[in-house]
Amino acid sequence: MSDRDTRALIGYLVEEINSGNIDVVHESIASEFYEYAPVEDEPDATSVFHDLLTDLKVAMPDMQLAVSGLEADGEVLRGRLAMTGTKDGPLWGSPPSGREFQWNVEIAVRPEGDRIAVAFENIALPEVLGTLRQLDVVPPPDQMDKPPRYPVSPPEILLKVIFNGGMADKPCEHLDGIQIAEPTTDVCEECVAAGDIWPALRLCLMCGYVGCCDTSKNTHARKHYEATGHPLIRSIRLREGWIWCYPDNAFFTSRTLDKYR
Ligand SMILES: [Zn+2]
Ligand SMILES: [Zn+2]
Ligand SMILES: [Zn+2]
Repeated sequence: MSDRDTRALIGYLVEEINSGNIDVVHESIASEFYEYAPVEDEPDATSVFHDLLTDLKVAMPDMQLAVSGLEADGEVLRGRLAMTGTKDGPLWGSPPSGREFQWNVEIAVRPEGDRIAVAFENIALPEVLGTLRQLDVVPPPDQMDKPPRYPVSPPEILLKVIFNGGMADKPCEHLDGIQIAEPTTDVCEECVAAGDIWPALRLCLMCGYVGCCDTSKNTHARKHYEATGHPLIRSIRLREGWIWCYPDNAFFTSRTLDKYR
């Protein structure tokens, strides 16, 4: 595809999405992620983007995209994507709020066959948290250590992009050391003993310890890692099963955990 064709396809994609045709993703976005080809039984980029945009369109029926400032860098085009809308619908467990939403992100686009592969670039965690707060997916800063008002469960794929900075798995030598995949308790015993509350729980995959998460007042899961060196935890909030490696700062979806169940 020539530079002109890529630009034309981006223009077409944005226009169709803005008029409500999310299915245009099937003919426009490649099955490969920008920097990563999904392995067998992993969702492909086409369906990931389709599902994400479908969820966002339900949350913001007036959702509009705009792409600007596209500059060629070899066969890659780099520019900015702006997403705006009003949250008049539910999203991942949070109710409608009627609030305005605005997100600006750097994107890279490269041709992949007759479709395009898209990446979000230079994503900064504090900025993303602010963005997700506009959608009530993350609690306000002063309520991060409390049980959330809504039991929100964002797609793991989104968490992976946010925490790993991309779609690919980060290297981690600890996964083969997983001993325990399922918790035997659903409370943080140390918080219960102290009369404290927590937003979410983590299970140590080495010894089965259950403690409260990093945004809780007491961060017992992290203290357990610091005291024992046990590197891997999983989320046991709602039906979550994603894994986090403390020493490698690496996020894995629950697909990884399935191998140890
Ligand atoms: Zn690791
Ligand atoms: Zn605790
Ligand atoms: Zn442990």
